[in-house]
Amino acid sequence: MLTVKAYAATSATDPLVPTTIERRDVGADDVLIAIRYAGICHSDIHTVREEWGEITFPQVVGHEIVGEVAEVGANVTAFAVGDRVGVGCMVNSCRQCENCAAGMEQYCLEGNTGTYASVDRDGTITQGGYSTHVVVDKDFVLRVPESIPYTAAAPLLCAGITTYSPLAHWNAGPGKKVAVVGMGGLGHMAVKIAAAMGAEVTVLSQGLSKKDDGLRFGAQHYYATSDPETFTTLHSTFDLVINTVSAPLDFDRFVSLLRLDGVWVNVGAPAEPVALRLFSLFTNRRSFAGSSIGGIAETQDMLDFCAEHGIAPEVELIGADQINDAYERVLASDVRYRFVIDTATL
Ligand SMILES: [Zn+2]
Ligand SMILES: [Zn+2]
Repeated sequence: MLTVKAYAATSATDPLVPTTIERRDVGADDVLIAIRYAGICHSDIHTVREEWGEITFPQVVGHEIVGEVAEVGANVTAFAVGDRVGVGCMVNSCRQCENCAAGMEQYCLEGNTGTYASVDRDGTITQGGYSTHVVVDKDFVLRVPESIPYTAAAPLLCAGITTYSPLAHWNAGPGKKVAVVGMGGLGHMAVKIAAAMGAEVTVLSQGLSKKDDGLRFGAQHYYATSDPETFTTLHSTFDLVINTVSAPLDFDRFVSLLRLDGVWVNVGAPAEPVALRLFSLFTNRRSFAGSSIGGIAETQDMLDFCAEHGIAPEVELIGADQINDAYERVLASDVRYRFVIDTATL
């Protein structure tokens, strides 16, 4: 066992605190990663506050992880000490069900093993990336291209793949009109990726305060959803909408923006069920869908795509002592666009 520094939640209501945790010995198929940077995802906050269900404390969260390989097991040939690598939202799956066999481990029929707050194969609870080291099975380690700035790479492992996967699956590209709802951590990545894929991108945000950023990231149009005119102007317009907002929306109104065969994809979700009149889908033969992160091979494709197109998240680098403040700022949408923890400060 390796005792390593970390920042953990000790209850659903107390601030996170510095601590140490145990990492398992490096097995034959394992990679020990010296974590350099860890992104803060809204899911981290939902999890430690038990908004998505009860968890076991103390709990270290963080599923946007980049660092260097520090040690490899006997069976590991794809990675060597010093390689720049990443870990995203999952660290294992059954590897045998039809979804795993199809390379979509995120949809493992037995449930994938989450990077944190999940029961690991050895029965322990997985602990995430707000830590100096992590031990991960080689098949769930990603290669982070050198051309992606080190400090900015971490959010690609959740925010990047969560938006890349539906954009790729529903063929965002030249000739397609794509709308992105919400301009936060996920939304700003969706804009950059969809634009790089060649789609005509529109941002639908509550207000216009981030308009300059949106256009700079590659959007051609930017509309305020607080303005009723927006829904008249854009009626039956989009082939694909990526909804990154986790607050409830007036879905009938928003879905009316889809053109013939248009698809609405949710990657953010409120805790409560939502209301949607199915008649809103009959018009224009619309689809209402969801999508969850991406498979390991697809996540590697995303990283390579971002390297090739010079895409990186916009980040604000913080020290460990700023994590609790950062949580409050994430909840207040006061971050442009992702907090990343420098783990040297742990
Ligand atoms: Zn996440
Ligand atoms: Zn499976």
